[in-house]
Amino acid sequence: MTLMEDAKNGIITPLIKAVAESEGIDAETVRSCVAKGLITIPKNIVGRSRPMGIGKYMSTKVNANIGTSRDYVNIDMEVEKAKVAEASGADTLMDLSTGGDLDLIRQRIMDSVNMPLGTVPIYQAAASHKVVVDMTSDDMFNAVRKHATDGVDFVTIHSGVNLHALERLRKSDRIMNVVSRGGAFTIAWMIHNGEENPFYREYDYLLEIAREYDMTISLGDGMRSGCIHDSSDRPMFTEFVTLGELVKQARSVDVQTFVEGPGHLPVDEIELSVRSMKELCDGAPLYFLGPLVTDIAPGYDHITGAIGGTVAGMYGVDFLCMTTPSEHLALPTADDIREGATITKIAAHAADLVKDGQRERARARDIEMAKARRDLDWEAQYRLAIDGKRAREIRENRITSSDACSMCGELCAMKIVKDALGDNGK
Ligand code: SF4
Repeated sequence: MTLMEDAKNGIITPLIKAVAESEGIDAETVRSCVAKGLITIPKNIVGRSRPMGIGKYMSTKVNANIGTSRDYVNIDMEVEKAKVAEASGADTLMDLSTGGDLDLIRQRIMDSVNMPLGTVPIYQAAASHKVVVDMTSDDMFNAVRKHATDGVDFVTIHSGVNLHALERLRKSDRIMNVVSRGGAFTIAWMIHNGEENPFYREYDYLLEIAREYDMTISLGDGMRSGCIHDSSDRPMFTEFVTLGELVKQARSVDVQTFVEGPGHLPVDEIELSVRSMKELCDGAPLYFLGPLVTDIAPGYDHITGAIGGTVAGMYGVDFLCMTTPSEHLALPTADDIREGATITKIAAHAADLVKDGQRERARARDIEMAKARRDLDWEAQYRLAIDGKRAREIRENRITSSDACSMCGELCAMKIVKDALGDNGK
């Protein structure tokens, strides 16, 4: 029985109960949403990850991407990045390794953290060949099965990149064509081999594997826009339509899904993307990669992604993939992961402040922080801060003789107004 099957049968499993408790939502609501595919709890039956709910009424979750490249393979560094991501508040982790012993890297990463782990199995299928297009459809499915048996909780599969979407791409006026790595592998393979994408053609078989291990399918957005110019166009929406059909098919055999979204989007198109994807995918949880709201800030794309992430979260995106300062430039360092995860966590919280189901809970923390600020209670401020360590370092490295901070010292507005108001100052 998969979790979705149990939920459809009215069973509140320990996993559902644990998610309900951690989110402050009643368990029956979580069960009902899991049954309908509105909440996804990625958890492979052989995995050891902690329960994590993504979707309706849940707090906005953050994923951190790590992984080697063919140019740079340092397993210890990837393990360190995984730990840093977890310590920085990331909710899930994706191992996107493409270089070195991929099985060993994945295992080391899984052993080092207990966040749900995601992968993109086609990277491993391609890695066994010098040229990507030489992989076979067996390589692709074998990689999925291998990741499932290893306990991976969710896999990104670009089943929506089919011949129909490819035709729309050819007719488009895109500048950057395809920027999704898995999408690019798939398209190159389809063109080279003159065949339909095996993950679309044999989607039933993919679902069989996923069902066997209760592994969640993250339906990849292979046609996501890689620049503002390419956003919200026919290839993107063509793929969305297919992804909606694939969500339904997965639900019919009790396999959990969530759906990836763009990419690069100007702020005024984010609402359109979110609402149309939610509609086309029957409320499936959405996982946005950013979205980055401008193309001209390399070095600061964790900020462009956080701006887009907040807006996307406000309109209903459930899961944000962090970007780091290295985005578009280089393989991220552990410090980049820390910064990217923290900033995306801020974006997620900002979205939760206005989101159904989480608004009250999220606001309670802001209210506590406001009181701690008013009372100049620094320890409480550090405890409530998303990055209390950084807050402490900044304040304590700029000494003041005042119990306020070195910005205004004895001219602190909090002190002055509190003295003036007396007991009314609370
Ligand atoms: S000194 Fe100024 S900046 Fe610092 S807590 Fe008081 S009002 Fe705020």
